[in-house]
Amino acid sequence: MYLNKIGDVPVVAHRDLPDDAEVKGVVVKREPTGRWYASLQLETPDDPPEKPDELTETVGIDVGILNYATDTDGTAVGSLDLSDERERLERAQRDLSRKEHGSNNWEDQRKTVARRHADLKRKRRDFLHKLSNYYARNYDLVAVEDLDAKGLIELPGNSRNRAGAAWGTFLRMLKYKCEREGAHFVAVDPRGTTKECAACGVATEKPLWVREHSCPACGFSADRDWNAAYNILVRGLEQVGTGCPESTPAETALPTGTTSVPAQRVVETGSQGKS
Ligand SMILES: [Zn+2]
Repeated sequence: MYLNKIGDVPVVAHRDLPDDAEVKGVVVKREPTGRWYASLQLETPDDPPEKPDELTETVGIDVGILNYATDTDGTAVGSLDLSDERERLERAQRDLSRKEHGSNNWEDQRKTVARRHADLKRKRRDFLHKLSNYYARNYDLVAVEDLDAKGLIELPGNSRNRAGAAWGTFLRMLKYKCEREGAHFVAVDPRGTTKECAACGVATEKPLWVREHSCPACGFSADRDWNAAYNILVRGLEQVGTGCPESTPAETALPTGTTSVPAQRVVETGSQGKS
């Protein structure tokens, strides 16, 4: 990258620039890790594409704790395993606490801690970028729950904050990417999406550990998260005024006990790939 008054600077590009983008400016910033970052401000020539009136590819996504995302097309993506990164961060923090505050060693270690933080954040964001790209590019309409996500209440404080923050980031990414790709993004009221039966609408109480939706009223059974995703899609379609999903729950239900795609595969391949 050529910077005025500085000259050529070697950079690592985190993602490709769109072909039609024009660089309008660059912000160079030093992070607490001591690393330098350059953010490019781009301008693309076209307004975002029109959203289609006729919807052929629609999807409802349920975000959860055991599986990161389960969608109405039967894809379930497992939670991203960040335990190694977390462990490294905690170790660095422990080492920092043993150093004399303000000493050179302490200052070096402080940078290490900041770097570990950044590693963790980058890995999570990378995963969320790839997952949200997949949905925004492959569908005309993406329906999700508004972030008052139900499962949050059932989690202990720390993991609740963590999950809540990641979900918020995911939904924000999904929203602007859908906008960019010309897809509808609909956030629906989350109340009752897990309890309601996708086939008949009757609500049944289900604690978090019950992974199967089995309806006492109509006998319909499906994977718990799939059932929720279907309800989310129905609400999403109602909200944009296009009626019902093309297929009934019974035709498309994800059976219980379906194994999920490891999140690592999303990170490695950049898509959820069904094969
Ligand atoms: Zn039912």
